[in-house]
Amino acid sequence: MNLNQTTARLYYQDSYLREFDARIVARQNVADRPAVALDRTAFYPTGGGQPYDTGTLRPRGVTEKGIPVVDVIADDGLVWHVLGAALPGDAVVGALDWSRRLDHMQQHTGQHVLSQAFSQALGAETVAFHLGAASSTIDLNRVDLGPEDLAAAEAVANAVIDDARPVTAAFYDQTALDQVPLRKPPKVTGQIRVVQVAGYDWSACGGTHVANTAQIGLIKVVGTERRGPETRVTFLCGGRARAGYARLTALADGLVARFTTSQDELLVAVDRLLAEGKALRRELGELEAAWVVSTASALWADARPAGDRRLIAVAVDYPVERAKRVAQALRARPGAVIFVGVKGERPQLIFTRGDDVSINAGDLLRTAVAAGGGRGGGRPDWAQGGVPTDAALDVALAAATRALGEA
Ligand SMILES: [Zn+2]
Repeated sequence: MNLNQTTARLYYQDSYLREFDARIVARQNVADRPAVALDRTAFYPTGGGQPYDTGTLRPRGVTEKGIPVVDVIADDGLVWHVLGAALPGDAVVGALDWSRRLDHMQQHTGQHVLSQAFSQALGAETVAFHLGAASSTIDLNRVDLGPEDLAAAEAVANAVIDDARPVTAAFYDQTALDQVPLRKPPKVTGQIRVVQVAGYDWSACGGTHVANTAQIGLIKVVGTERRGPETRVTFLCGGRARAGYARLTALADGLVARFTTSQDELLVAVDRLLAEGKALRRELGELEAAWVVSTASALWADARPAGDRRLIAVAVDYPVERAKRVAQALRARPGAVIFVGVKGERPQLIFTRGDDVSINAGDLLRTAVAAGGGRGGGRPDWAQGGVPTDAALDVALAAATRALGEA
């Protein structure tokens, strides 16, 4: 391996180069995969918030499909292409996955434009950028941004798209750099690559960009999130923004169809539904309270005398939460002993008794679930358990009734 070798980065001069000839200058394994460094490459390695390019490398003169490039890593002047399989020979042809690269160029250039827009419209400066698989984010050094602020910055950014401004890149030395109105100071020294959106933004950046702001197509802020002293702004550009628009349209269409209304009336329809739901829940609560009172009264009327106590041992088929409310209501009756079984997929047992009764509901429940092949337990005044089947529920209730007679 020649350690003085560096990889010439073809995308610095031409970010639209999709296919190129190169020679392999070094080989190694990266995480058990073969990797090659080239004398020149159009593949962008992960860095500056922008993910790596994918594509293929193939031996020169070979027409079949190349070896997939699954990761691209910059290390000490070399650009390493991590491969899906071994690649023979030294003379290769590289080919980018162009749709992935163009998407990255749209998001990245859109970020420059949006960051400058936030700076101009609101004095909010970008402190970090991340280009994600589905959306991108910038972190702004402001926390008090409202919807109007976001709309204002977005309007400035999209006007720059409408202007169709050229985007160019050039290297500057430190002296020449003093004349460039950089949005923020560079993180590196020496020769600095400056990406210029004509008459609008100057950024130190080694990434790939579209040649004209018109090719960003559209910039849409889709969310914000407070993060300590900063605001994280999530945004979509280009093809992602169009796909996002299509998703929102499909969502709106689905809602419009369900509510049989128009997009304009959608919020009114949703508010009406929410208000109806609230009123229904209130009404249901009142009905349920009345139902609990009358159900408890009916059960009490059928209660069996058991010495100075009255026993209610019953299997019901309403939901367990309602059964609990009925059991609670019955506890208030004098001398009440209550064994309620709730039938269903997971049969439940609720045992309780009045405060004036001295029996131990927990002990009785353990006896019952043991007879029914289930599990459970609880306090002397309230216990719960479960058994496998409705038939076991009857067995458990019978066992508890027998045990009460002996208690
Ligand atoms: Zn950039």
